[in-house]
Amino acid sequence: METIEDLFYYVPRAYTDWSEVSDVDRLRVGDRVTVIVKVLSSELSRRRGGRTVFMAALEDDTGAIFARWYNQPYLKTSLKNGSRIVLSGEVRFDRHARRKEFINPAFELMGEKDVTELVHAGRIVPEYSQIGDLSGKRIRRFVKTALDRYLDEVAEPLPAWVVKKRSLPALKDAFRDVHFAPSLETAGRARMRLAYEEFFLFQVVVALRRKRLKAREAGIKGYTWNRSEHEKLLALLPFDLTDAQKRVISEIRVDIEGPGTMNRLLQGDVGSGKTVVAAAAMHQAAVAGFQAAIMAPTEILAEQHYANISSLLSVLGDRVVLLRGGMRSEERAEVLESISSGAAAVVVGTHALIQEGIGFHRLGLVIVDEQHRFGVVQRAALKKKGRSPDVLVMTATPIPRTLSLTVYGDLDVSVIDELPPGRTPITTAVRDESSRKRVYDFLRSEVEDGHQVFIVYPLVEESDKIEVAAATKMHEELKEKVFPEISVGLVHGRMKPEEKGAVMVSFSSGEISILVSTTVVEVGVDIPNATVMVIEHAERFGLAQLHQLRGRVGRGEHRSYCILMIGRGASDDARERIQVLADTNDGFVIAERDLKLRGPGEFLGVRQHGIPRFAVADLATDTRLLVRAREDAFELLERDGALEGPESRAVVEAIERRFKGRGALIDVG
Ligand code: ADP
Ligand code: MG
Repeated sequence: METIEDLFYYVPRAYTDWSEVSDVDRLRVGDRVTVIVKVLSSELSRRRGGRTVFMAALEDDTGAIFARWYNQPYLKTSLKNGSRIVLSGEVRFDRHARRKEFINPAFELMGEKDVTELVHAGRIVPEYSQIGDLSGKRIRRFVKTALDRYLDEVAEPLPAWVVKKRSLPALKDAFRDVHFAPSLETAGRARMRLAYEEFFLFQVVVALRRKRLKAREAGIKGYTWNRSEHEKLLALLPFDLTDAQKRVISEIRVDIEGPGTMNRLLQGDVGSGKTVVAAAAMHQAAVAGFQAAIMAPTEILAEQHYANISSLLSVLGDRVVLLRGGMRSEERAEVLESISSGAAAVVVGTHALIQEGIGFHRLGLVIVDEQHRFGVVQRAALKKKGRSPDVLVMTATPIPRTLSLTVYGDLDVSVIDELPPGRTPITTAVRDESSRKRVYDFLRSEVEDGHQVFIVYPLVEESDKIEVAAATKMHEELKEKVFPEISVGLVHGRMKPEEKGAVMVSFSSGEISILVSTTVVEVGVDIPNATVMVIEHAERFGLAQLHQLRGRVGRGEHRSYCILMIGRGASDDARERIQVLADTNDGFVIAERDLKLRGPGEFLGVRQHGIPRFAVADLATDTRLLVRAREDAFELLERDGALEGPESRAVVEAIERRFKGRGALIDVG
């Protein structure tokens, strides 16, 4: 908080409605009201222990009432006999004195003031969060003084057509009403206008970024989508695409054929079938003579993509290679050579793909899987391996719309909002230590029925060492003591890629029945025979992540279960939070809840950049507002692409003032 403007944007966290004024003779116990009264007499007394009580007798034309304040001895000097005051509070009944009283009411000296000039009582009173030592009450006074002095100097940053189109109150009025509103409704409208403005200004930045992206890349020629090749691919699949998959593929087709480059975010809940969409796009690039690369966040996932994608695309004649860390040097050299010569049409890899020294021949399509695991920087690095390739980023962490428009605001968004048919919904249960034995019995019976089980350990603090230790210990115990007759495997992040790969192969072939793991299994792994996901210390995970983990089961036709184990000492809040997962299987609902509970920063993890801290707007709830603001911001760029008109200049100035140093990547110059 540095400027008067900052103070104006410091909106109340709540309001107390003290606008109802009553005559004293009509007061009833329990009323929360305001009275306008004169001080008849008063008395300050000291109790044992130093407590003070200031008691005043008050009256209006209709009757008398008492009020008492604890520990505010200075009231003796401010509330003189005969002074007129406005007093707001709840009417209580004092059993001792057998009379009605106000206890610690808010009040304000009335003097000759008009009711509209009141600050602390007798109106809709704004409540502010304290800032450091500064109490909410003092902030209220500062805001009032600042408004009285400077409100007239406030300039309107929004273009007139926007204000008109959205019927927004002027900024001046919004400042006045958000703090000292004549009604709660007006206050709401004022807050809405301020939130809208924040979104609008930020979306102008997003629109600019996006425009630059397109401009830089215009002129890259699209290529034609080869229908018959696409048909061939479809014919190889053991299933029909869902309508959502078909729709998304046609959105990608339009991007690929169109003039600029594709910059698309593909969102789809776990198991919605994003991989085959990626494969279809990569095949088109290959057929057109380009290379396509897909980057996955873990070795396991890259291996799995390689297996799936190459079994499909090599039948169609595309050469598919896998690049991962820890390859033998001859093997690696061979793969690199095939990538740089263009012999490899489709390249699957981990972030090994973005290392220096890896050159593509003609990279036309870049796909980033599980985008939330990568940063913006890695996405850009992969893109740089080609000359403005098409980019498709895929994520299974459903991102609430407000966030995707903010963080990925420069991308077009496609959504797969439908799961393949025949999936039985996963049954989710929240359990604690007291049921551990029953849980183990259940796992045993599932294994006896021929199914498989995941048991996942959380990341403990920032160190995966402890995590590995916990998982290793658990593995030992389960193997030796609990399930001596069952094959129990272990996989964690510290194992060499080959070791990890070998364990995953044994699990997917059914040799291992129970797989103990750290969070390395979180993304992507597809084992249709696994029917139970046990998550230890579920309270340590975010909801979206738990949902992600749960998505590892329920992929086949068997009934599947997710058991969320709550650790000892988990708070009631944590339990309640975890319960959300038992209540719904809808990834978007979960993501919205997670966002509300944890805020955007935590929700997205430290790797995401470019989200400003909004002062008024709330990414978790103001969705509709954001969508409108975005539409208008894009319209502004259509009307005045150079942002040179006087109205646009006001917008640019406001952006610079409002977002400076707030974590946004602002560059409007
Ligand atoms: P995700 O979107 O989580 O990456 P995957 O692409 O791994 O999902 O797909 C999950 C599973 O669903 C895979 O076994 C895949 O073969 C299968 N699948 C994908 N699309 C369909 C479909 N249309 N019908 C039936 N099964 C499908
Ligand atoms: Mg996937």
